[in-house]
Amino acid sequence: MSIVIIGAGPAGITVAETIRRFDREVPITIITAESFPPYSPPAMADHFLTGRDEPLFWKGRDVADRLELDVRDDVTIRAARPAAHEVELVDGTILGYDRLVIASGSRLYAPVEGNELTGIHDFKSLRSARALLDRVRRGEVRTALVVGAGFIGTEIALLLADLGVRVTVLERLGWVMPRMLDSETAGIAARLMRERGVELRLGVEVSAFVGIAAVEGVLMATGETVTADAYIAATGVKPHLEFLAATGIDAGWGIRVDDHLRTSVRDVWAAGDVVEAVDRLTGERYVHAIFPNAVAQGEVVGRNLVGLDTTYLGAESMNSLKHLGLPIMAVGAVTGDEEFRWRSGDVLRKVFVTDGRIVGFRLTGDIGGGGILRSLLLTGRDVGGHLRHIADPGQGMAEIVFEALPA
Ligand SMILES: Cc1cc2nc3c(=O)[nH]c(=O)nc-3n(C[C@H](O)[C@H](O)[C@H](O)COP(=O)(O)OP(=O)(O)OC[C@H]3O[C@@H](n4cnc5c(N)ncnc54)[C@H](O)[C@@H]3O)c2cc1C
Repeated sequence: MSIVIIGAGPAGITVAETIRRFDREVPITIITAESFPPYSPPAMADHFLTGRDEPLFWKGRDVADRLELDVRDDVTIRAARPAAHEVELVDGTILGYDRLVIASGSRLYAPVEGNELTGIHDFKSLRSARALLDRVRRGEVRTALVVGAGFIGTEIALLLADLGVRVTVLERLGWVMPRMLDSETAGIAARLMRERGVELRLGVEVSAFVGIAAVEGVLMATGETVTADAYIAATGVKPHLEFLAATGIDAGWGIRVDDHLRTSVRDVWAAGDVVEAVDRLTGERYVHAIFPNAVAQGEVVGRNLVGLDTTYLGAESMNSLKHLGLPIMAVGAVTGDEEFRWRSGDVLRKVFVTDGRIVGFRLTGDIGGGGILRSLLLTGRDVGGHLRHIADPGQGMAEIVFEALPA
């Protein structure tokens, strides 16, 4: 038996690590477009700010040797051919496999005119992040424009501001991190960003990146052109599926998988940002591109590949922000039939409830009890009679509610 894994991101490396916990013999080849040891994208900002290596190379620089992996780096897949049980790399190498894992993650999605111009940076990989940071270090970037105020755009803006760059963020919607935060929580985040030196222009539409060959400016829907030393697109991500044409693998926005994370084609599995998985709470199918989902899926695929019949419980919508200097925990839906809130200054705690069940919460400044709220949400326990203080701060209140509930 032999296994080929496309992608050495959090999902791919977790597949390999999980297999090795049970099987030291099976040959594993792992293919990555990058030339670094497997890294954790959420740790990139900290790495560039502090120079620290350990959180970035989260499995250790020697992980490939430890796990006895045949790593093919700095190379991409040209095509997968499941009927022949082989993949072809762009350098012409053909690799056969008995089982294939697609963990090719996601890339920048920038549906903005002019996105093909050279010089537009993104922060989607260590290679592209380095290209931007090298320019900053060479003193070429005094001002920067970040298009998109999602959590990646926010992270880049804060990093650049901390490095002394004058940063402006352009965001179409009226508040920062609009998919993750409600407007009130986002208001606190926006104030903290401004205090750190980030200029926010919210509710503004970018029409195009403009320039002859290289980007020279950003054209706004108002007709105004804004310029800077560096332009960064942080407009979203899209699964890496380009090499799947003619494979017959069922895919929409991402690869569709069953509850064991098998694709529609025999002997091919998928995990991570590339997968359209079922949401654990809502049953909806979607790509939820976050680190914990990638790791959890990697484990499920790894276990199934060594013959341990393992069902995936479903994806979660969960995020936490550390870079603002104030912790924010965002889990589940951002609205519900009822909203319970507690606020004192920058401590804001909101719990969203539908039919007596927690469907989401946002905790800012004090994230105590977040774990208990999450478990109430995931287990779908009826909290109907205990709602009055559900958002109150401190782990204590959540514990009282938890203990009062019938098992
Ligand atoms: C700046 C940043 C900050 C983030 N912060 C957070 C956070 O705070 N919390 C959180 O939960 N998530 C965060 N995320 C998201 C998280 O990093 C991703 O969900 C996670 O990395 C997904 O893992 P993956 O292995 O599926 O994909 P990726 O990490 O995208 O890895 C994909 C791998 O596939 C390889 N590959 C791609 N295409 C090919 C090809 N054609 N041929 C060969 N190899 C290929 C790549 O080289 C790479 O090795 C952040 C992401 C970024 C970019």
